Amino acid sequence: VIIDDFVPDLILLNLYYPECLGMEMAAILRQKPSNASVPIVFLSREQNLSRHLAAIQRGGDDFFIHPVDTDHLVTSLMARIRRTRVLRELTIRDAMTGLLNHSTFNERLEQAIRQHGRNSAPFAFAMVDIDNFKRINDGYGHAAGDQAIRNLARTLKQSLRPVDTLGRFGGEEFAILMPVEEPGEAFRIMDGIRQKFSRIQHSHGGHTFQCTFSCGIAMYPDFSGMAELGETADEGLYIAKDKGRNSVILIQKQNGNLLVSTGSGGN
Ligand code: GH3
Ligand code: MG
Ligand code: MG
Repeated sequence: VIIDDFVPDLILLNLYYPECLGMEMAAILRQKPSNASVPIVFLSREQNLSRHLAAIQRGGDDFFIHPVDTDHLVTSLMARIRRTRVLRELTIRDAMTGLLNHSTFNERLEQAIRQHGRNSAPFAFAMVDIDNFKRINDGYGHAAGDQAIRNLARTLKQSLRPVDTLGRFGGEEFAILMPVEEPGEAFRIMDGIRQKFSRIQHSHGGHTFQCTFSCGIAMYPDFSGMAELGETADEGLYIAKDKGRNSVILIQKQNGNLLVSTGSGGN
């Protein structure tokens, strides 16, 4: 049985099973993209070297001949597991901020839609974009812009709750998935972060400057698909930019009608 959302740290296979060959199982496991970097190790009494090589060609990383010294086996498996965990962290995170990268965030969002779909519990999908960011790059340099991005990442990380999922979409754009009791809760959290961020003094290369962000929030299940959520949050962001930036726009659907709300402006 291959469990869908479960990515193991390591797979230990025998070479012979009553139903199938271990090497066939390795080949099948390898077909799943998320298993591409999972170490597959064989443990078998098989002495024939050509069988070992065949198993490695079908996707195995290593072959231990039974009986094996337990310490040797455990130490070597643990070393592989540690390395896999480090590499996995690097592939799911954005190097500059340490937040989840775009594709990993999208996977989490898909997962949330699948899970919340069953009980229809609401969640908010928020998109954040720094205002007039080009001016920061042009005025103080690209490295200063990077500093502002890192400061926003830290502010978001510190202000959000453990249940929230935060990712960097690229550039100066971030996305957040927040399970909430009611839409106003998502608005209050994001608006609080907006105010907090607008007061931060960023400093880089002898310059000090301030900046703001705009945020669009779409509610699930009012908008229930990945694309619909993304487009609606984007629409909210567009409205926020259009009305002068430094604001949060929440979009809901009630009785088939769009409900667009904001409470912003002030600091
Ligand atoms: P708006 O308020 O409408 O969002 O205006 P803006 O100037 O922020 O416009 P936009 O979002 O289109 O600009 C994003 C700019 O961010 C363009 C690009 O040169 C810059 N950028 C993208 N990625 C990075 C990055 O990693 N670091 C820095 N410093 N700049 C980046
Ligand atoms: Mg942008
Ligand atoms: Mg921007």
